[in-house]
Amino acid sequence: MTTNHELFQRAQARIPGGVNSPVRAFKSVGGEPFFTARADGAYLWDVEGTRYIDYVGSWGPMIVGHNHPSVREAVERAVRDGLSFGTPCAAEVTMAEAIAAIVPSVEVVRMVNSGTEATMSAIRLARGYTGRQRIVKFEGCYHGHGDAFLVKAGSGALTLGVPTSPGVPKALADLTLTLPYNDLGAAQQLFAEHGDEIAALIIEPVAGNMNCILPRDGYLAALRELCTKHGALLIFDEVMTGFRVALGGAQAHYGITPDLSTFGKIIGGGMPVGAYGGRREIMQQVAPAGPIYQAGTLSGNPVAMAAGLAMLDLVRTPDFHAQLDRRTRLVTDGFAAAAAEAGVPLAINRICGMFGLFFTDAAKVETYAQATACDVATFNRFFHAMLARGVYLAPSAFEAGFVSIAHTDEVIAATIEAARAAFRDAATA
Ligand code: PMP
Repeated sequence: MTTNHELFQRAQARIPGGVNSPVRAFKSVGGEPFFTARADGAYLWDVEGTRYIDYVGSWGPMIVGHNHPSVREAVERAVRDGLSFGTPCAAEVTMAEAIAAIVPSVEVVRMVNSGTEATMSAIRLARGYTGRQRIVKFEGCYHGHGDAFLVKAGSGALTLGVPTSPGVPKALADLTLTLPYNDLGAAQQLFAEHGDEIAALIIEPVAGNMNCILPRDGYLAALRELCTKHGALLIFDEVMTGFRVALGGAQAHYGITPDLSTFGKIIGGGMPVGAYGGRREIMQQVAPAGPIYQAGTLSGNPVAMAAGLAMLDLVRTPDFHAQLDRRTRLVTDGFAAAAAEAGVPLAINRICGMFGLFFTDAAKVETYAQATACDVATFNRFFHAMLARGVYLAPSAFEAGFVSIAHTDEVIAATIEAARAAFRDAATA
């Protein structure tokens, strides 16, 4: 039998850090990752045959659980007709119509192959459409690895961009302005000073990349107003929240109409898919309808479209999100009770299908500063204590947890049983 350790040794020799996406390497929690051999429903099995209840769900796509028969069979049917055509295909049209029907702000949509591509393309479009160069993002929000997004703020209300990663040109980073999430005053000040230079403000309407942080009441509406007033486009990055926090995404949940939206994850059913779309008049600027160039050899791939359409059919069933919300409550209430029992201070954020556990005395976590001030060492001990009991949480204190419809009451009860012991371990270690 190949072991996880052997595979990780081989992987490290030939793949940077042994992984094809950084968080997978367990760097922040310590130890070595396991290598998944197969996945089904709420479970992953590693190459050694160990089973884990999975609260990562491939980082979001697996909202109906792994290996759902409808999605798998749709893919199997599509594969029989060929893997890629390089011509238009009917499934792309159905997909665009389905997205527009579910998300009314998206009148016209372009399919791409990842969330990163979606956000990169959306800001190019925003810049081309407005004729402005600056973009605004939020500290702690992640929009993929495009140069313009790998910029963080220093402390203080607003900071001109400093690249987070070597390789991001300073000149480009300078065009990215960064704001603290949930601080309306800082946004008002930034727009007062730079409003007429800003092409777009891009935000995760529920932040899922600094653990899970919800927007304060009225915050998104106020950002909408600011953008409208200053002629900047409002881009909701719904790569994580789309089709999850509500069928119509965070924009439906909070009742806000962005100018552009970006999607990924669920929309591909587990295949590499992203999309960006919005108001017709803006989207018509994209080539070949308009002059703003964006393209993709595999975009709108027939197999990926089949997976995504099967997925959308499943999440569109009545009651799906009510069920998912109930399950999310059940698991987060269970975590809260187990932590209290073990005397571990824990704050929890949740919304349908997503949650965040914060090891902190704070009653409520609403900012990046609060999220990063949490007790990472205790989280790391908790993570490993859960893993040892067969429950896989995201391997970083700064990632959201994902619940799927395959997390039945029974699966959740087993999770909470493990958490009772894991909180005790984490507290005493
Ligand atoms: N936007 C958000 C909100 C994301 O969470 C992610 C990925 N976690 C991305 C964009 C980038 O997507 P991808 O990894 O598919 O490039």
